[in-house]
Amino acid sequence: MIIPLLKGLAFTLGRFFSRPITIQYPEEKVPPAKRWRGIQYFEKDEQGKTKCVACGLCMAVCPSQCIHIVTAEDENGKRYPLTYELDAMRCIFCGYCEEACPVNAIFMGKTYEWVGRERAPFLMNTEELLEQKKYNP
Ligand code: SF4
Ligand code: SF4
Repeated sequence: MIIPLLKGLAFTLGRFFSRPITIQYPEEKVPPAKRWRGIQYFEKDEQGKTKCVACGLCMAVCPSQCIHIVTAEDENGKRYPLTYELDAMRCIFCGYCEEACPVNAIFMGKTYEWVGRERAPFLMNTEELLEQKKYNP
């Protein structure tokens, strides 16, 4: 009976005297957890274009219905997203889009700092999703 109590007390005291408790944010940043789901990014193919083949699975699985895709085909019959829009204001960062993607084109990134005074920057298109790749090497 007394041993679990002492163990709990020792743990609490250990935490109480450990330092630092806070960090000097924003100069210092906490590295995100391995399974952190931040702002999405598109993976690039060999030509630097998106790997997305506009299959629409991410759009179908998204519970917030915040992905909208218009599909097109090139001269070789290969599908690509003519427009790809992700409304990050509505996104709940569940990660279903990443899980559903059959070609590993979209991933949840590590970025967690994202503020703005207007809605427009949170409406991401293909170019902006490709741009996010640089924050997720
Ligand atoms: S993380 Fe979830 S809510 Fe956000 S775009 Fe992907 S599927 Fe939709
Ligand atoms: S990101 Fe992946 S799941 Fe979504 S349309 Fe493109 S290929 Fe399909």
